[in-house]
Amino acid sequence: DETIVLSELAKRMGIKANEMIVKLMGMGVMATVNQTIDYETAVLVAGEFNYEVEKASFEEEVILKKTEEENPDQLQPRPPVVTIMGHVDHGKTSLLDVIRKTRVTEGEAGGITQHIGAYHVQTEKGVIAFLDTPGHEAFSAMRSRGAKVTDIVVLVVAADDGVMPQTVEAINHSKASGVPIIVAINKMDKPDADPDRVQRELSEHGLMPESWGGDAIFVQVSAKKNTGIDELLEMILLQAEILELKANPDKLASGHVVEAKLDSGRGPVATVLVQDGTLRAGDSIVCGMHYGKIRVLQDDLGRTVESAGPSMPVEIVGLSGVPMAGDELVALADEKDARQVSQHRMQKQRSKELAKTNRLSLEGLFEKM
Ligand code: GDP
Ligand code: MG
Repeated sequence: DETIVLSELAKRMGIKANEMIVKLMGMGVMATVNQTIDYETAVLVAGEFNYEVEKASFEEEVILKKTEEENPDQLQPRPPVVTIMGHVDHGKTSLLDVIRKTRVTEGEAGGITQHIGAYHVQTEKGVIAFLDTPGHEAFSAMRSRGAKVTDIVVLVVAADDGVMPQTVEAINHSKASGVPIIVAINKMDKPDADPDRVQRELSEHGLMPESWGGDAIFVQVSAKKNTGIDELLEMILLQAEILELKANPDKLASGHVVEAKLDSGRGPVATVLVQDGTLRAGDSIVCGMHYGKIRVLQDDLGRTVESAGPSMPVEIVGLSGVPMAGDELVALADEKDARQVSQHRMQKQRSKELAKTNRLSLEGLFEKM
């Protein structure tokens, strides 16, 4: 379903749109300036003017493939990427806060107010990256766009409240994307905490604790009293070992956008999770429809860094526009390639939008008639 807007094709061929319309009419195709024409028609009409048409998506794949020289020997273990999910008010934010605060060294504490939507935490036994998704919507939006960013889900369930609708939703999301779940039964400090009830209710949704013959991992915690947190982090790292997470830090980076915004001073700013390779200041990148050269890389504490390896979340500045959460980021050796891929994507998007407005205006026309 490759298409191009008529005026765009005419422009690229250096002919007047009207000439093309006339030529198309001669071929039995009625089209207006803003109309999109399909690939086959474009080939035919371009042929009439002695032009050859090449599919943009094909070129894009070739360009992106040039950067892929995978060598299994270069694969190295990488930290797990964790998303905390659960029903509202069960303690997701509190848990993330307590994990961050207790694992951040004194000198770093100043930067803790920084919010970039993703953090990495250094524990005694290893590094863990946490995604602070604003909710299940972001998670499912990313999933529907084919972006797999999470290795492990920590499902937070309040011990005094039990399984609630969003708990079930989170279980379903995790299962659908094949991501293992670790259950954190939170608010264990509360007098009416009932972890048995939580385990019973979760068993009905296929999460059976090991002590009951199942294989789900349960950890009892209190974000308020800071108890059970070390055990939770240990379980995450154990699960990560089983998953044998690997990446190649010695190549150009690829990853996904966690969140992005337009900053009045710095321009487009995106938080990206590097999933493979290493992202460096000065790298040329394609990110969704946009492209750029990375001007500044900052870690989750707001410190400028030179590079970010696999599983590292970083904030980047230098993009031509604001990407969407879930957009893929790819670093390319050649700046021109990055711009070309971006332009192709932009054009595709434009023709999609024009096709939509054409349909709308046609509908409007029929209403009037
Ligand atoms: P979220 O909506 O899942 O992000 O939940 P929050 O982290 O905002 O917590 C909701 C409420 O529960 C807040 O008032 C927290 O102070 C409280 N809370 C979170 N964790 C605990 C805990 O371990 N024990 C107790 N007693 N309260 C908690
Ligand atoms: Mg919250």
